Amino acid sequence: ENKIIDGKEFAERLRARIGVLAGEFEAKAGRKAGLAVVLVGEDPASQVYVSSKGKQTVAAGMNSFEHKLAADASEEELLAVVASLNADPAVDGILVQLPLPRHMDEQKVIATIDPDKDVDGFHVTNAGRLAVGQAGYVPCTPLGCLMLLEDRLGDLKGLNAVVIGRSNIVGKPMAQLLLSANCTVTIAHRHTKDLADLVRRSDIVVAAVGVPEMVKGDWIKPGATVIDVGINRLPPAEGKTKGRIVGDVDYQGAVQVAGAITPVPGGVGPMTIAVLLRNALVAAYAHEGLTLATADLPEHSI
Ligand code: NAD
Repeated sequence: ENKIIDGKEFAERLRARIGVLAGEFEAKAGRKAGLAVVLVGEDPASQVYVSSKGKQTVAAGMNSFEHKLAADASEEELLAVVASLNADPAVDGILVQLPLPRHMDEQKVIATIDPDKDVDGFHVTNAGRLAVGQAGYVPCTPLGCLMLLEDRLGDLKGLNAVVIGRSNIVGKPMAQLLLSANCTVTIAHRHTKDLADLVRRSDIVVAAVGVPEMVKGDWIKPGATVIDVGINRLPPAEGKTKGRIVGDVDYQGAVQVAGAITPVPGGVGPMTIAVLLRNALVAAYAHEGLTLATADLPEHSI
């Protein structure tokens, strides 16, 4: 049987479905759904990511609005852009690309985004909605992980899950989602003792740490499902200019034992933008008071 969870293929199918629903939205609302992305500065990884988001947004039949500010722009300038997007009825979703330059306060900026346009799910209102089980916007990467898990395993009820990492953008919302899917959830972090032992008892392992190949193959319970969120670039080998990209899991070791595993690249990575488009489309339907048939767009958000 096929152990590899093909996130690239899943994300392509999801985007195709979103494209159909975005077309239906346009026919009903008389306008396209709109997603705005704000980029401050010239971080190369962020530039690549933002340009890829723009292309995929347009390919899915939505409007993409891009706002680029110089690295030395003031926080007030950024807040003014967010305020104008909050007020713009053509904009359904707003994403401020992180990290922001050091002279800006990320939490303060996120707090000014209209929670009902916060398609990244980083506003405390959406974090709170997720925590108490209300409809809201869920961060894209962990929601994508949940989609891959449910696609592979079906009902997750009663499974032991360990989430390694407790960041606000991946680990914590991932744990909340698994809890709402009725898993027994453990959250591990840099102070956790006996991590190997915890992982050995887990049917689901989600690694979101940022340490290359930290989770070893012999930690994995035979048959467990492993979701590797990590994206780490190794130092280049002799004579090479670029190092290999690896995850937080020792893939070669883990694939021998796991029941299913996401590769890096091609696993979780492609899901993030696909889920962002999903959240933006959900926002568009909500803003127009239209009903969205979510059968093919997994739940856990509005
Ligand atoms: P982060 O640095 O904010 O958080 C890392 C977490 O790992 C922390 O909670 C920390 O306590 C924990 N940790 C660190 N060292 C540990 C150790 N030795 N043992 C156990 N826990 C430890 O990182 P993040 O933003 O959550 O991202 C995690 C990884 O996922 C990174 O590699 C990042 O590049 C990747 N990522 C990928 C996507 C995507 O696929 N689209 C999106 C976001 C993040």
